[in-house]
Amino acid sequence: MSQLLDTLTRRSFLATALAGCASMQAYREELNQYQTLADRATDHFNKIRVSLTLTPSGVSTYRQPKNIVLNTQAGFEKSLPLLAHELGHHILGHGTSGSAYEMEANAKAVEVLQVWGYSEREGVGMVGEMLCRRQARGPSANLAGHLSAADELEHLKTRFNLPMLHCRAPR
Ligand SMILES: [Zn+2]
Repeated sequence: MSQLLDTLTRRSFLATALAGCASMQAYREELNQYQTLADRATDHFNKIRVSLTLTPSGVSTYRQPKNIVLNTQAGFEKSLPLLAHELGHHILGHGTSGSAYEMEANAKAVEVLQVWGYSEREGVGMVGEMLCRRQARGPSANLAGHLSAADELEHLKTRFNLPMLHCRAPR
């Protein structure tokens, strides 16, 4: 009996350890994808490379001199405008938050997306969708230092002269 229990315990320990390795491996691979893109952007703008941390929840943030925490919950493609926005803060040398900085970072994000191969129009669309997703989450999703997502979207449309851009009606 104790022999069996011992075996079972060891087996479940091993399974847990292996699952841990597999998810660690998956995390490294995912991180590597984002890091490669981040490096391409910082190299392009002649800035020091950033240190990225991925998180499945919480707010994406940039902290000087070179730390970005990226919420990747929305999946790879939808996380790209978020990463581009945080890189925008880094490239622009932002040390504090404020609505003017946030809108500058949104505009810089469009340039970063272009470094990654998207057109300006696609980039504006991706940053716009990011803002629409925030808007859809309601006022509680408004972030410190930001205007409302709707106001940021208005600013983006004006800046890039794309007045037709609008959030899809929630289904
Ligand atoms: Zn920001």
